[in-house]
Amino acid sequence: MSASAAPPSLDSVVTSVATKLMAATAATSAQVSQEVLADLVAYFGVDVSFLRYNDHSIRASRLVAEWPVRTGIPDPDPLAVVYYTDADPVFAHSEHAKRPMVFRPEASTDDYQRRIEEGRAVPQTSLAAAPLVSGDVTTGVLGFVKFGDREWTTEELNALEAITSLLAQVQARVLAEEQLRYLADHDDLTGLHNRRSLLAYLDNRLAAGQPGPVATLYFDLDRLKAINDYLGHTAGDWFIRVLAERLRREADDIDVIARLGGDEFVVVPAAPMDAETAEALAYRLRNTLNERVSIDGEMLTRTASIGIALGVPGQDSTSDLLRRADQAVLTAKSAGGNMISVFTEEMSLKGELRNDIELHLQSVIENGSLILHYLPEVDMRTGEILAIEALVRWQHPTRGLLSPESFIGVAESINLAGELGRWVMRTACAEFAGWRSRGVGHNIVLRLNVSPVQLVTDGFVDTVAGIISEFGIDPESVCLEITENVVVQDIETTRVTVAGLKDAGVQVAIDDFGTGYSALSHLKSLPVDTLKIDRSFVRELGSDPGDLAIVRAIIALAESFGLELVAEGVETEAAALTLLRHGCHRAQGFLLSRPIAGAAMESLLARGRIALNFSVSQRL
Ligand code: C2E
Ligand code: CA
Ligand code: CA
Repeated sequence: MSASAAPPSLDSVVTSVATKLMAATAATSAQVSQEVLADLVAYFGVDVSFLRYNDHSIRASRLVAEWPVRTGIPDPDPLAVVYYTDADPVFAHSEHAKRPMVFRPEASTDDYQRRIEEGRAVPQTSLAAAPLVSGDVTTGVLGFVKFGDREWTTEELNALEAITSLLAQVQARVLAEEQLRYLADHDDLTGLHNRRSLLAYLDNRLAAGQPGPVATLYFDLDRLKAINDYLGHTAGDWFIRVLAERLRREADDIDVIARLGGDEFVVVPAAPMDAETAEALAYRLRNTLNERVSIDGEMLTRTASIGIALGVPGQDSTSDLLRRADQAVLTAKSAGGNMISVFTEEMSLKGELRNDIELHLQSVIENGSLILHYLPEVDMRTGEILAIEALVRWQHPTRGLLSPESFIGVAESINLAGELGRWVMRTACAEFAGWRSRGVGHNIVLRLNVSPVQLVTDGFVDTVAGIISEFGIDPESVCLEITENVVVQDIETTRVTVAGLKDAGVQVAIDDFGTGYSALSHLKSLPVDTLKIDRSFVRELGSDPGDLAIVRAIIALAESFGLELVAEGVETEAAALTLLRHGCHRAQGFLLSRPIAGAAMESLLARGRIALNFSVSQRL
């Protein structure tokens, strides 16, 4: 930097640091952390910076990065691992702190001063310590030491909070990657049977001549992933182990308990069992699982969905039985979780639906039984409509109005996703252009969902640009939504396509944000405009503090990247008010409006706003 250049602003430093952290992977995180510390030391004009992670299992704090790197480090290094049990007040603070703290030279921090002196041989210091917080857990601390006194402004401390929220994300990402590696060669976390031994066991039980029916209880822990992502894999593993232990404790009449994957368990009772008895057993087991689990002093509960199926020896195969149990658990899950459901023939109709869809989808796209509904996106402060999202439905002759989730997956699997996507885009653009020609909807954005397959299809950008210009729509008022998972899966192609869309002037949003943590590292390289917070985090806002922590982290992230933020699935007033209180005012959800047909949307757009049935000003 030349002597005359203006110093960088705090905002620009935060943004540049955020950008580096976003791109960090498990492999680069240590190096990137150190670079970030170096940047911050230079900017804040302090002498030393350090990053430490908490290890709550041994109540210790571990040094992860420091700047400048000390020379002549004593052996053992008094700063490497610090146990909270014998820590001075300053260190003790970083075990559970939730907000940044500043310690200036005074008598009460003497022990801390002494520790620094031992480690570094320098006198009196001041310290700013900003905790890394993930969910409800303090996972580490970012510290800045100034030899001598230094004041920290509120603005600087706010910046530290934004940076530590990113550092906590990096930490969670590293843990998640480690967990993936771990799971690749361990499936004995719980000491339970694994899939292979379950299959072999069921093959025997289902052999002709064996006593039956053989009951199978398929457990799926609801939303376990959030524990893993935000409390770390150690917490998630511990949780599973506790639950497995509980299942085993109940195991008098249970022959096999197997863990199939992350959060899926199968229980097979020893005795032949009818559906009613199996259901009673499921209720008993669920009650045991529902009891709270303590993790590092945090009390967590997770509910479980349970699917039950019966197999007849000599008649049903192992894969029949597991498929039915799986279908039953899917039904239980989609009924809202924490449910128990017994497989019925009706569920197997769902399998038939798939065949039906496969057979008819092609002609459906051509013959007009697809329709679009629209979901408004609203400024919750005013009720003003800011955007509308097109959602496809299939008016099926005998099955009624089918949700996209029931047929989009099938369309993708039989290579019809492109065709379906083009239909949606053309139809939505035609309708949108029609409204505009009648004078409504000029200030709103049309949001279109894009299936992952479309995104990696050759010529996708040209197709989009072609359709938009065919209907004379300005590209800026069209936004394509891509799900976070696709961003994770095929980042290279996605990056090229997104860049092409931006060149064409179209907006891009990341949908279901928060469900695939790895996308964070790619945000930087994807020129997206908007993040949509997945509705699983929004649904229980106002009652689940873990969800609030996640949403706040996403809000901080969007702010530091200058991205628009939209909350999906606002169903309750509590969620709406919580979002507003934390600075997220764009939202969609059943509290505001259900998806509505095109004609109804046109009249709604003519009014320009929806009536809010909760009062913002009174409650904030
Ligand atoms: P999405 O993109 O997350 O769309 C929002 C979904 O959430 C819609 O479901 C909407 O009805 C629902 N929703 C909105 N507010 C609430 C709420 O407060 N509570 C609850 N429980 N749900 C709410 P829908 O229409 O069934 O669509 C489901 C998914 O299907 C969409 O999720 C999207 O991923 C996909 N989809 C819909 N239309 C299309 C399309 O044209 N193309 C592609 N590729 N995917 C589509
Ligand atoms: Ca969407
Ligand atoms: Ca979504």
